[in-house]
Amino acid sequence: MKWIILVLAALHAFAADFDIVIRNGRLIDGAGNPWFRADIGIRAGRIAAIGALSNHTAGLVIDARGRVVAPGFIDVHTHIEGAVEKVPRGDNYLLDGVTTVVTGNCGGSELPLGPWFEKLEKAGLGLNIASLAGHNSVRRKVMGAANRLATPEEISRMRELVGNAMREGAVGFSTGLIYIPGTYSNTDEVVALAKAASAHGGVYASHMRDEGEKVLDAIEEAVRVGKEAGMRVQLSHFKIDNRRLWGSSDRSLALVEKHRSEGVDVVVDQYPYDRSSTGLGITLPSWALADGSDAVKERLNNPETRLRIAAEMEAKLRQLGHPDYSYATVATFRPDRSYEGKTISEINALKGRPKTLAAEIETVLDIQLAGGAQMVYHSMSEADLERILRHPATAVASDGGIREFGLGVPHPRSYGTNARVLAEYVRKKRLLTLEDAIRKMTSLPARTFAFQDRGLLRLGFAADVVIFDPERVEDKATFQEPHQYTEGFDLVLVNGVVMVEDGKLTEARGGRILRKLPE
Ligand SMILES: [Zn+2]
Repeated sequence: MKWIILVLAALHAFAADFDIVIRNGRLIDGAGNPWFRADIGIRAGRIAAIGALSNHTAGLVIDARGRVVAPGFIDVHTHIEGAVEKVPRGDNYLLDGVTTVVTGNCGGSELPLGPWFEKLEKAGLGLNIASLAGHNSVRRKVMGAANRLATPEEISRMRELVGNAMREGAVGFSTGLIYIPGTYSNTDEVVALAKAASAHGGVYASHMRDEGEKVLDAIEEAVRVGKEAGMRVQLSHFKIDNRRLWGSSDRSLALVEKHRSEGVDVVVDQYPYDRSSTGLGITLPSWALADGSDAVKERLNNPETRLRIAAEMEAKLRQLGHPDYSYATVATFRPDRSYEGKTISEINALKGRPKTLAAEIETVLDIQLAGGAQMVYHSMSEADLERILRHPATAVASDGGIREFGLGVPHPRSYGTNARVLAEYVRKKRLLTLEDAIRKMTSLPARTFAFQDRGLLRLGFAADVVIFDPERVEDKATFQEPHQYTEGFDLVLVNGVVMVEDGKLTEARGGRILRKLPE
């Protein structure tokens, strides 16, 4: 078979035909097509040719023999605020094959976005970064942590903040409806704010109001927002987060399919681990966390209120199907780092307290009173995980962040999400084909978030490229020892800049802010 050589004009203006040529690789284009053999020519950060390029010159020639060449991975569910400023190269993501991340998820984003984007650009980025406008951040600015519905005046002020963020380049609107203060909102509020993002062509990304017993209602709510605001809907970190309901992802996926068949553009993303990670606060009733830290302290120090909180925590735990807090491990607790990596039950024992649920609840409340902790929760089943991963509308996304190497005992997903899918679910379990797994990491998320020139190996597209050996790529990060970089991504290009070479990070900076263009 002879591939058509497509070379852009004005080659004679350059000493070499291309800046980079990648030769002899097996190309997986990101659309789900079977791999094919071809060379890629890159010029000025873009894919300038795909075909047989052995007669062409290049500043850098990369031999990809025995390797797969794919589009760089697009991780649409991250939380990099606060860490990207310290590690602007985004080391853990680059070494996991990621070239673009979307942050500002679960309702939490920087506001305003414009100055933050400019600061990051000055710092020099390793990754392409886009952000959503977060509902919780907007609501906190206008209403603090007030436990009530918004007034019409507050809605209009919040709409203005969302509109501003969109004008600064946000790619959409996110909610985190289990978190403070978004959990105090109703659907009408979410629709009103989503419309302010929809006017600029944004996507709606939802950390839903429930991921267990009421997950079907929560899907309906997110779909209603999408329908009424006229937006694509991304259901974030799709899961069944309730031990008593393990196995019921067939019903939640069927509901997604039903809406899709009726013309609603709703898709999901997922991280490939059976444990979640978020704050300790979600184990408390939401009313207990209203009105700011002084009010929270006052409630926790009031014996009567504390008893009421404890009773509701026990009910919540039983509802989730857990006998105690041994499913909950501390990931980050700044006041006492010795807690990190230990379960609440273990910390309770270390404190010399009796092995009772009441005592464990006291331990949780003590940690919350001391400022709270980031946690890892063992709450999902492998069967649901695999069923969701197989679904064609599921993208792979980490729900992680940029990591400061060695700090805390965070969830390993920030280091190993993509490699884990390729090693565990493609190579070992054969749950997905390599081509389909790559599609879930590239063109599917690019489509949903309207990255028009990324996520595929196509002429004119940005030269975000990963090269790896599918037999060798491996996630190393574990729950016990998460600070281990993925191995096996030999080369990573971001906008045509070599960010990873021979599996090692370079000092270059190829990333940029991806601001949403007006539609
Ligand atoms: Zn979330």
